[in-house]
Amino acid sequence: MGRRAGRALLRRSSAKGPRLTNHTHLERSQPTEKSTLQVSGKCPVCRLGGDKIALREGDYIGRLCGCGITYIDPQPPVGSIDPQVDHHHRVYYEAPAAARVAWVKRFKQKGLLLDIGCGDGEFTRAAIGAGFEVEGIEPNPDRVATVKKRSAIPVEQGLIEESSLPAGRYDASFHVDLLSHFPDPVAALRAIAEKMRDDGVICFEVGLFSNLPLRWRRLAGRANMPTHLWFFDAPSIEHLLDAAGLKLVAMRRYKVGVSTAVSAALVAMRRERAVAATRAGLPMARGRASGVYYRFHMWLRYGLGRWLPIGGPQTAFVAAVRRLPAS
Ligand SMILES: [Zn+2]
Repeated sequence: MGRRAGRALLRRSSAKGPRLTNHTHLERSQPTEKSTLQVSGKCPVCRLGGDKIALREGDYIGRLCGCGITYIDPQPPVGSIDPQVDHHHRVYYEAPAAARVAWVKRFKQKGLLLDIGCGDGEFTRAAIGAGFEVEGIEPNPDRVATVKKRSAIPVEQGLIEESSLPAGRYDASFHVDLLSHFPDPVAALRAIAEKMRDDGVICFEVGLFSNLPLRWRRLAGRANMPTHLWFFDAPSIEHLLDAAGLKLVAMRRYKVGVSTAVSAALVAMRRERAVAATRAGLPMARGRASGVYYRFHMWLRYGLGRWLPIGGPQTAFVAAVRRLPAS
């Protein structure tokens, strides 16, 4: 969220906000019993509802649960979001790939790694270069073909929640910016855990955009609901892992407030084009300049962001293991 952001659309919650609280609409949007989404309008960890409004965007509100998760309400209809659509610029995958692999390597030096949502294979190539054996899973058939061709590895076409990859197979796994998109993040983490060996390490990167101090909300950029269904803070990641039968091993946080503020300033300067791009779901910078822009942006996020004081929006590298029953 926020990297190619439009003007800050995160609004202060307000009890008297007239825009959206149409109860009939919200009630109608609750899932039917046949729905596969059991968490609609409820925190995916606590399974409670009725939390306070933290943000509004379009037809959606984000509710902040006591556990730290902000969740979308109402839940978009099942099947209304295409998991193959990816709005990130390639540099978002390419520039930090080595740092992401290095994170996994802190916990697992070698072995078979599952690259979840491998996209065009930027992380895949970096992981192979670092000595891992890699297999992928990716819903977009064109990208599956690209990775198979470029990296000559097996790639399953599909979603991790429905994967037929064997259980207990992998030494490590990685995904980036998927947690906010899974229809049920607890179910998705369980599905990942099932694919891992007992001593396998589950690594991922996730944005921390929930529960932001007020001064950061205006700068945090678009929430991009309903593409993003959930927003997390650091404590809620631990709750989420716990709910999925996992245990946090380590978390490294990068402060992305500066990169977000730079984005917001650029958007303000080139407002018309940026707003049009945001509406069309396109990256803010395109063409030849985009690589330079996103590389600078990635340096602000991961180079500078690692050393800034804690606070404001962040992106986090996370490592977790399965919580095995004591024998
Ligand atoms: Zn909760």
